Amino acid sequence: MEQINWSDLTFGYMPTDYNVRCVCKNGVWGELEVSSSEYINIHMAATCLHYGQEAFEGMKAFRGKDGRVRIFRMRDNAERMQSSSRGIMMAQLPVEKFEEAVLKVVKLNERFVPPYQSGASLYIRPLLIGTSAQVGVKPARDYMFLVFVTPVGPYFKAGFKPTPYAIMRQYDRVAPLGTGTIKVGGNYAASLAAGEKAHEMGYSAVLYLDSKEKKYLDECGPANFFGIRGNSYITPKSDSILPSITNKSLMTLAEEMGMTVERRHILVEELATFDEAGACGTAAVISPVSRIDDIDENKSYVFSKDGEPGKVCLKLYNKLRAIQYGDEPDTHGWITYVD
Ligand SMILES: *Cc1c(COP(=O)(O)O)cnc(C)c1O
Repeated sequence: MEQINWSDLTFGYMPTDYNVRCVCKNGVWGELEVSSSEYINIHMAATCLHYGQEAFEGMKAFRGKDGRVRIFRMRDNAERMQSSSRGIMMAQLPVEKFEEAVLKVVKLNERFVPPYQSGASLYIRPLLIGTSAQVGVKPARDYMFLVFVTPVGPYFKAGFKPTPYAIMRQYDRVAPLGTGTIKVGGNYAASLAAGEKAHEMGYSAVLYLDSKEKKYLDECGPANFFGIRGNSYITPKSDSILPSITNKSLMTLAEEMGMTVERRHILVEELATFDEAGACGTAAVISPVSRIDDIDENKSYVFSKDGEPGKVCLKLYNKLRAIQYGDEPDTHGWITYVD
């Protein structure tokens, strides 16, 4: 058996032993199947390839000090995949089947769940695609659900450090009443050009404004956005952002810490009043923002001058991670044990 150097892991793909699959034919879901192949065999006219019938999820499993493996908020992911499925007219996988598949794939690949001390975790990637061969534009009859896992390293190799983000007004990611609220690959395809441009310019990611008026903050390409002002946690309310489970968790924790949580429209100019800012999602939990450049407006909003994250970001980050690794009790029912 190969040795994995846990501390060298990045957020990349590494093969594991098994994946778990389930197909839906004519509206009927079959049994879970275990596969050791990294490939899928699908028809060249499958709707996922031509008309974007594809949705995915992302969550993590963590090994605690006690050696037990914990999956974070699995049910929320199952429900969100159903919402994504409704959004692009795909068959909905029952929540129980989703949970069974996730537990099975983690258990089968338990040797890939990184040890507690490493700060690494096991990333879980569920995927749902339309597989019927069709050239006419309509929803597929048949679907394939698949879930694979891959160990990923601690997101912050150089420590929990803030990085710069960019507002790029010549790009939109999603339409005002479009697919922004669901987790589909199409949204990511639509964000790649702006994302690559931002990376070339030295930014971590793009912070999108609302597509209609370009007045309010929406979210980052792959993560929600929040700001801290005094004792308030402020995050955008919008019809075109993905309901991040990390953001939802941080809002709960912020409230429990005695903070005021505001979920509302946020004018771009309000960035000037924030003490801290962060992007949040499963991959990083929180990615603190050092500065936001509104490139076309030639404006800059600075949150960290000394290269250090804000106190509130750090506190929230440590708190959520402690729950995920089992260092602090799970008082919200967020954890599912893989025993
Ligand atoms: C997945 C995703 C997020 C983060 O959601 P989490 O549930 O916190 O991982 C944020 N924005 C977009 C567009 C996403 O696809």
